[in-house]
Amino acid sequence: ALSLDVAALRRDFPILHQTVGDKPLCYLDNAATSQKPRAVIEAVERYYRQDNANIHRGVHTLAERATAAYESARERIAGFLNAAHNEEVVFLRGTTEAINLVAQSWARPRLQPGDEVLITELEHHSNIVPWQLVCEQTGATLRAVEVNEAGELDLDSFEAAIARRPRLFAVGHVSNALGTINPLSHLIQRAHAHGVPVLVDGAQATPHLAVDVQALGCDFYAFSGHKMYGPTGIGALWARRELLEEMPPWQGGGEMIKMVSIDRSIWNDVPHKFEAGTPNIAGAIGLAAAADYIESVGIEAIAAREDELLSHATEALNDLGGIRIIGTSEKKAAVVSFVVEGVHPHDLGTILDSEGVAIRAGHHCAMPLMEKLGLVATARASMAFYNTKEEIDTLATALQKAKNILG
Ligand code: PMP
Repeated sequence: ALSLDVAALRRDFPILHQTVGDKPLCYLDNAATSQKPRAVIEAVERYYRQDNANIHRGVHTLAERATAAYESARERIAGFLNAAHNEEVVFLRGTTEAINLVAQSWARPRLQPGDEVLITELEHHSNIVPWQLVCEQTGATLRAVEVNEAGELDLDSFEAAIARRPRLFAVGHVSNALGTINPLSHLIQRAHAHGVPVLVDGAQATPHLAVDVQALGCDFYAFSGHKMYGPTGIGALWARRELLEEMPPWQGGGEMIKMVSIDRSIWNDVPHKFEAGTPNIAGAIGLAAAADYIESVGIEAIAAREDELLSHATEALNDLGGIRIIGTSEKKAAVVSFVVEGVHPHDLGTILDSEGVAIRAGHHCAMPLMEKLGLVATARASMAFYNTKEEIDTLATALQKAKNILG
């Protein structure tokens, strides 16, 4: 029941059926952004064709329809995350904006000199820099749990750091640079045992794993629509309602108020308090369509398929020789980060592109991780369920070619 009709599913993604140069596109950069199925493209198009209006204030039919569609998208995303309440979902630009919101609205008023914020060496810059900013603003100190050679969190380092009772632990669910899936339930339980709230950067998890915020027991969960087959410019922060209610607004403007006079304003209820200005209405609708799409394919089937692709890619690269895979955890999403002896990842990326193969080369917005691993950059192939073993074989053939030219 877990096997997918990949040929049929690929037809849902118009962009996949093209050539680059004269080669069939082989898109293996899904961790950067995933492609969009027809259902998402059409949901956005339908909204602009039929329902477009500004929301929450209009008395006319289109405004009512647009408002209903936007709020039902919120309900859809609450369901997708198994949130207890729809109001716990704040629509934002994506993971980056969600983490900045928590840093500025939740953490900033609470942090004092001597306090610590704990992150990890695996984090994406968007789960590092917002904490550097707020530590700078408040005099708090930023610390990071260490990673080991396999690209996993060092649990002794974590225990020592969490026992210092930082004010917050901010951790990625799945590493974009290496694919490592962190033992999140364990980390959250241990953090809570020390009274430490936990923010999860779920950017790489929502496309690959079932996320249940109540079962996880985290306090904040941030993610981006574009990594999970939805549009760019939309994502969400989920947070427990009590936390959102305690937090002051971060940006001021329309929509986020109940009453404004020149002297003062009264904030709107959660979550509208955090959605100043006209939101990305079409994006939210597209994101809800992406959640529907994932559900229709089945997240368990997606994970099983991606695991198969990961094994195939790991084997294919190991068979080539002269390639070192970076990130060897037993628990990984479908990401293979690697270096080829004597070849700069950027040169590799360019040669692969001439073979139609799209991968990423660079520091993957994880410069502290690269530094820890003694690297400047890696090449990264990241798979989605719609990728095929043949595409991975094309990657391997192209890599062999690149090695012959550059090695
Ligand atoms: N965290 C992780 C783990 C990511 O992979 C990304 C996107 N590369 C982000 C955060 C930032 O997401 P966005 O750029 O959509 O805000």
